[in-house]
Amino acid sequence: MNIASVLANTARAQGDDPAVFLGERPVWTYREMARRAAALGGGFRRRFGVTRGDHVLLWGPNSPEYLEVMFAAWFAGAAIVPVNVALHQREVASIAENCGAKTCFVPMAKIGALEACMTSGPHVRILPLERTALHDLHGDECDHAEIDISDTAWIFYTSGTTGRPKGARLSHQSLLAMALAYLADVDFVSAQDSFFHLAPQSHAAGLLMLPHVMKGARNVVPDPAGFDPDEVCRLTRVFGSVTSFMSPTMLRRFIASPALDAHVIAGTRTILCGGAPLYVEDMKRALSVLGPKVWNGYGQGESPCTISALPKAWLADTSHPDFERRLASVGIARSGLEIAVWQEDGPPSRTGEGEIAVRGPIVMSGYWGNEEATAAAMRDGWLLTGDLGVIDADGLLTLKGRTKELIISGGSNIYPREVEEVLLRHPGVAEVAVIGAPDPKWGEKAVAYIVARDESEVTAADLDTLCLSNIARFKRPKEYRFVPTLPKNNAGKILRGEL
Ligand code: AMP
Repeated sequence: MNIASVLANTARAQGDDPAVFLGERPVWTYREMARRAAALGGGFRRRFGVTRGDHVLLWGPNSPEYLEVMFAAWFAGAAIVPVNVALHQREVASIAENCGAKTCFVPMAKIGALEACMTSGPHVRILPLERTALHDLHGDECDHAEIDISDTAWIFYTSGTTGRPKGARLSHQSLLAMALAYLADVDFVSAQDSFFHLAPQSHAAGLLMLPHVMKGARNVVPDPAGFDPDEVCRLTRVFGSVTSFMSPTMLRRFIASPALDAHVIAGTRTILCGGAPLYVEDMKRALSVLGPKVWNGYGQGESPCTISALPKAWLADTSHPDFERRLASVGIARSGLEIAVWQEDGPPSRTGEGEIAVRGPIVMSGYWGNEEATAAAMRDGWLLTGDLGVIDADGLLTLKGRTKELIISGGSNIYPREVEEVLLRHPGVAEVAVIGAPDPKWGEKAVAYIVARDESEVTAADLDTLCLSNIARFKRPKEYRFVPTLPKNNAGKILRGEL
């Protein structure tokens, strides 16, 4: 089963339904979209000999053409390698070389810069991602290639807030399981629904596009590409029944938009949020402004969109005795996945505290060309996530932070997330990151970086008092640093290494 059949099937059953919009402007129906992908896939095969097992790299801002190339590569039997648009051309070149991509699509204006960084020679084709240029590559429409469901469909280079990025191999099966689990756990989807491509198509928007194409929904790519909360509000008024993925930072900006009114709220169906912690205070604010529309999903490139999630219905159930505990969690295992706490010297445990492990068809097959990293991340069929958490008897997963972020002070564990949750309760604190720093007496100490809200007069003494009345004394930060902003990558993740 080739994941390209998701588009081919929809084109057959709902060919006249609109598939893609650029801003408000209709671009293709499903029939047209499938034809273009099949013709480009045919062109890939005939002109360049692209075939099963090849890798086609994409590096560019969100666009309808991005989707065309993704499906065309699958039609031809190749895997796609969508690369974060914010990366430097040197980083893109090193990814292209790492995965051996022979065909790369990038905006015309970037071709020269990328070519200059490639050291693997002239046999790599760097082609423009613009519509007219793609049109010139069209050949005879091809049927989607015969492949094995375990073939790699997508190599997902992890965003790499630390170290060199690694390419997680996601099979056609993984993408199919992800799309079906979406329909099982989030919302049913129809042609009346719209999916807004706000996050990068190289990441969440590209992955979550699949269940929406599967059910013939409208894919809307803002023009210009990127995230402008006021424009999102305007387009929501136009389309209605809107779902999108936002990082917690994007969600905060959306909620603060002056353009957010009752029509926009009514037209918003679901905001899928994740990629970084969504704190209790964020959830409460979102709930009070939007109602129960935010779906907090915990995942990673190695088990995409996602591992666990907090069902929207639980947000509506405010009188439930576990309401607060649920808000602080990342919910329960997604359909088709098992979660466990990994223990070094024993079988994984269904409950308890430790490193979170996951297994099931969504999970990656391993890292591309990196046996060592694969062996470190995958044991006995389980993916070790590198995230610390607690799984309760009722299956609720609460994250504590990354294993590498754990602070050990005087032999006791301090989970940054726990301290951050407390600091965010102060009305003057807008954002916070707690990290470990060397300490001659305790080995490590907690240091809090605080972004204060405008005009607030929050002090270190206030925050210390807040911590003392909520958490153990040893956990409180020994130092507070007030900063105007926190460094983040374009997925909204705090770059703790820089702090
Ligand atoms: P990436 O592979 O770049 O998407 O990063 C995945 C990592 O982001 C996970 O391993 C978690 O540490 C973190 N993460 C993702 N989603 C959430 C979430 N909903 N809440 C807290 N942390 C998250």
